[in-house]
Amino acid sequence: MASGFIDKARITVRAGAGGGGAVAFHREKYVAAGGPDGGDGGRGGDIVLKVDEHMSTLMDFRYKRKYVAADGTPGQGKNCSGRDGEPLVIRVPRGTVVRDSESGEIICDMAGQDSFVLCRGGRGGWGNQHFATPTRQVPHFAKAGLPGQERDVTLELKLLADVGLVGFPNVGKSTLLSVVTRAQPKIANYHFTTLSPNLGVVALDENTSFVLADIPGIIEGASEGAGLGHDFLRHIDRCRLLIHVVDVSGSEGRDPVADFEQINAELEQYSPELAKRPMLVAGNKVDIAPDREGLEALKAHVEGLGLPFFEMSAAAHQGTRELMWAAAQKLQELPPITVYEPTFVERPLQVDMTEPPTIERLEDGTWMVDGPWLRQLMANVNFGDYESRNWFERQLRQSGLYDRLEELGIEDGDPICLYNLEFEYQR
Ligand code: GDP
Ligand code: MG
Repeated sequence: MASGFIDKARITVRAGAGGGGAVAFHREKYVAAGGPDGGDGGRGGDIVLKVDEHMSTLMDFRYKRKYVAADGTPGQGKNCSGRDGEPLVIRVPRGTVVRDSESGEIICDMAGQDSFVLCRGGRGGWGNQHFATPTRQVPHFAKAGLPGQERDVTLELKLLADVGLVGFPNVGKSTLLSVVTRAQPKIANYHFTTLSPNLGVVALDENTSFVLADIPGIIEGASEGAGLGHDFLRHIDRCRLLIHVVDVSGSEGRDPVADFEQINAELEQYSPELAKRPMLVAGNKVDIAPDREGLEALKAHVEGLGLPFFEMSAAAHQGTRELMWAAAQKLQELPPITVYEPTFVERPLQVDMTEPPTIERLEDGTWMVDGPWLRQLMANVNFGDYESRNWFERQLRQSGLYDRLEELGIEDGDPICLYNLEFEYQR
C-alpha cells in the first residue's frame, strides 16, 4: 500500500514443543544399579500477545510472518527436569482483533485485555522415574514431549474511538481533528491527504472527554488506484457515533446533498449496520460560502431525516466547540465501545492416522502405544477438563486403536500407557 500504513496482516504462530523425558538410572559408587531417575522434559514456550500502547499500525507484521516459540529442553538424569521454553511475546496495537484465518472466527479482541495466550506450549514428556512400579522396576523408556499449538491467524486493527469522522476527501475532517484535539494530522488542499487514521482526545472539561478519529476517506485514493476501497472503514466499526462532515461552500462545484447521500451509500454498502450508527452532520467551510444556499439545502435535507445539523468553519474555529459538546452529550446515551466476543471454537485436529500406531507389550503386561498421531492428539487435550477428556476418548475409539489391541489379545484390566497417561483397559 502506498501509504505504508498496514492495518491487516496474516501470520502463522507456533508454540514450543515439550522436551523429551530422560531415561536414566541412579548411580553411586559401590551400588550396582540404582532406581530410575530420568527427569521430565521442560514445557514448550507459549505464544503470547501483548498490547503495546505505542504501536498504532500492524506494520511490523509486514515482513515477519512466522513466529515460533522456544521448545522445552530434555530432561536429564538425577531427576533433573528440562528447562521450559521461553514464551514468545508478540506486541500488537490496542484494538487488534485476532481471527482464525481459515474460519474467520474471532479468537480474541485486544481491546479490553492487555495480554492473551494465543498458543499453548506442549507438555514435556515424563522421564522414566515416573514409570517405575512394583512389577516394573527398570523402566527403559521415557516419553517424548508434546508439540505446541499452531495457528494461522489474521490480525486486524480496529481503532478504539468513540466518534469517527466521515465524509468526502478535502471537506475538512483533518482540520476539525486538529482544531479540537492535540492531534496533528496532515492537512492539505489535496484529495489524498489522509491515508492513515488519526486519533485525538477531545477534552471539553474535567469530566467530559472522548476519542475522535479521522477516518481516511471512503473514496480517497480509489481513483488513483491506491486501492483503499472500503478497507479503512473497519476503523469506524467500533465508533459509537459518526460525525459526517460536508463541504457546503460549493468551492469545488460540489453539491452538498449529493455528497452526503453518496457517502451514506458507501457506508451502507460496507455495512448496513454501520449505516444505522447515530450520526451528527456538520456543514463545513461556511466562511467561504458565497451564499447560504448549499448550507440551507443540506440542513433541510438532513433535518428531514431526523438528524441533528451543525454549521461550522473548522479553519476559523467557528461552531466546532458546539459540535463537540453535542457529540459528548449524545455519547452519554450510547452504549460503550464495542469489544468483540470470541466466536472461535477449537476444532478437533485433523489427526494424521495414515501411520498406524506402534504397540509394544512390556514384560509386566503394559501395552505401550506410540505414534505421531497420538502425540498430536494428546497435545490438544486438556486432561483437567471433562469435555476435553471425552473428546480424547472418542478420538481414541475412532482411531481403531482399541480394535487393534483386541486383535493382539488385550484383556480387561490390562494397563495401557499413552505417553504420561496410564490407565486400565475396559471394554
Ligand atoms: P480532509 O481531507 O477532509 O481531511 O480535509 P482537510 O482537513 O485536509 O482540509 C482540506 C482543505 O480544506 C485544507 O486546505 C483546509 O485548510 C481547508 N479547510 C478545512 N476546513 C476549512 C474551513 O472551515 N474553511 C476553509 N476556508 N477552508 C477549510
Ligand atoms: Mg484528511
